[in-house]
Amino acid sequence: MDYQKILNEISEEIKPYLNEGKVADYIPALANVDPNQFAMSITMFDGTQYSVGNADTLFSIQSISKVFTFTLALKYYSTDLYKRLGHEPSGNPFNSLVQLEYEHGKPRNPFINAGAINVTDALVSHYKDEDIAYKEVLEFIRSIADDHTIDSNPVVSASEMEHGFRNISLANLMKSFNNFDNNVNEVVNVYFKHCSVEMNTKMLSRAMLYLANHGVDPITDKTYISTQQAKRINAVMLTCGHYDASGDFAFHVGLPGKSGVGGGIVAVVPKMMGISVFSPALNAQGNSLVGTMALELFTNKTGFSIF
Ligand code: GLN
Repeated sequence: MDYQKILNEISEEIKPYLNEGKVADYIPALANVDPNQFAMSITMFDGTQYSVGNADTLFSIQSISKVFTFTLALKYYSTDLYKRLGHEPSGNPFNSLVQLEYEHGKPRNPFINAGAINVTDALVSHYKDEDIAYKEVLEFIRSIADDHTIDSNPVVSASEMEHGFRNISLANLMKSFNNFDNNVNEVVNVYFKHCSVEMNTKMLSRAMLYLANHGVDPITDKTYISTQQAKRINAVMLTCGHYDASGDFAFHVGLPGKSGVGGGIVAVVPKMMGISVFSPALNAQGNSLVGTMALELFTNKTGFSIF
């Protein structure tokens, strides 16, 4: 299959839609990103990469980082993790407080903000120190992406902290239900730091390979997690990776995927490749509008949906 030709076609076909959608502006440091950008990369199991557009441009991975923290928490806590949070779709916006109150402080899944902040709390408990927890998450991301230049943008994380009222509320609400171990501000700070990690689509598509290959990196042969854990992460990506648009993403794209409000999306084609797209303007549910469209075009053209 001529992947380069397919990516080139996609980048032409999405052009008329680049002006639709809206860049996330509730994080002021992200509000000034140029909405007209587009990039898409795929990484095959032998390391071959195909890209189109601004594939070297670094962007804020935001909620894509929740896949990496969930991976680490699952590795250390195994099924005990589900005492703190669930694995069902929320059907609610990613930053909603309402469901968390109704459900006594137990977040629906690790990919909504409450769930991801709870996972970060579990990691701070595991590492017994918030700085070590953040460093270990960063090291894990560098390892799966096989790129040691990756880092967090302190301007973005500081901006998130300054305007983090809702996320701090979610953490406080969980604390009030005794479903939170550590200091709220310290944990939320670690959460913002891992959300503010910057990567490009080449790095992110490379980083997905362990999930496309049952927990083992097909290039380095490193085992990160068990086959069963990889299955579960992919399942939660499919059912919860796009919040209240997860059904829509499965319907149109048909791959396990995870979005971030920075405009990135990662997706996994099992046993074949990792994919990442980037386009900063978002749809109403906070997922990249053109990115979702590009992934739909990709699975339609290749037939590589899991369904
Ligand atoms: N850091 C962002 C937040 O907490 C992540 C949200 C997202 O990417 N959906 O609001």
